[in-house]
Amino acid sequence: MKVFNTISDLQNFLDTHRKNGNKIGFVPTLGALHNGHLSLIERCKELTDVCVCSIFVNPTQFNDPSDLEKYPRTVDKDAILLTEVGCDVLFTPAVSEVYPPGLETSVDVDLGDLDKVLEGRFRPGHFDGVVQVVNRLLDMVRTDYLFMGQKDFQQFTIIQEMINQLNRPEKLVVCPIVREESGLAMSSRNERLEPIKRKQASLIFRILRQISKQIAHTSLAQLKEWAIQKLSIPGFKLEYIEVVDAYTLLPITEYDNADYVVVCVAVWVEEIRLIDNLILKSPENTNQ
Ligand code: AMP
Repeated sequence: MKVFNTISDLQNFLDTHRKNGNKIGFVPTLGALHNGHLSLIERCKELTDVCVCSIFVNPTQFNDPSDLEKYPRTVDKDAILLTEVGCDVLFTPAVSEVYPPGLETSVDVDLGDLDKVLEGRFRPGHFDGVVQVVNRLLDMVRTDYLFMGQKDFQQFTIIQEMINQLNRPEKLVVCPIVREESGLAMSSRNERLEPIKRKQASLIFRILRQISKQIAHTSLAQLKEWAIQKLSIPGFKLEYIEVVDAYTLLPITEYDNADYVVVCVAVWVEEIRLIDNLILKSPENTNQ
């Protein structure tokens, strides 16, 4: 696996591949890689010829300075995992490479409500940072395909909207959520959970599954109240649980009237903030 820190080294390498007609795939990450990230690399390898993974802990998307400071940084271990899974390029730019002084990197897109609801209510400015860094990384990498996880449902929805509005050429591929055996969605933050809390956190997915089972014949209000009550246990602090239209991310009122529905949740377990989601109905499979 090649490791590059600068755009010029990365582009020299990728240009040769482009000239040979090879397709480039790109997986942006914050590092501290786990099997969820690696599933994106695997998908990227299936669909493209050259797989580029970036590790960049983007300061502009952390609205909480202590979260940025505590974010795990394990690049050496990450590089071993990436090599094992057959990633071709690891791109680890410095902050000064991504945001060189004098370069305007903020992005002018109108996201409407997409960045105001769900995560947006609790992490002000977060999606401005995400849009900024993904747009900048796409300019730096010049990929054909961009791979992102369903785990961050709102994030990929916003990035697709950004790609559409800016007429960017990249094709976004969304990959399913990889879970621990307990059902807990894999996250770099899980490592910071005490083992007993990590076990308890599997409750989140059990609740999402229960909602999925009940949604067709229970009222939304009742289900939400039930879920809120179930998640009111010591050490847990629920931020939101919402059944939303998966296109607009706005709460639905009638399950039967929507054709793409997802339930999204954010919960603090002790000091760790966890998010998860489950698609309840999708246009391809309306009986899901
Ligand atoms: P992050 O390093 O948290 O920014 O994640 C990088 C990419 O990996 C994002 O597109 C995430 O949605 C995706 N990802 C994170 N966790 C998982 C997971 N458990 N399953 C699938 N994709 C994931």
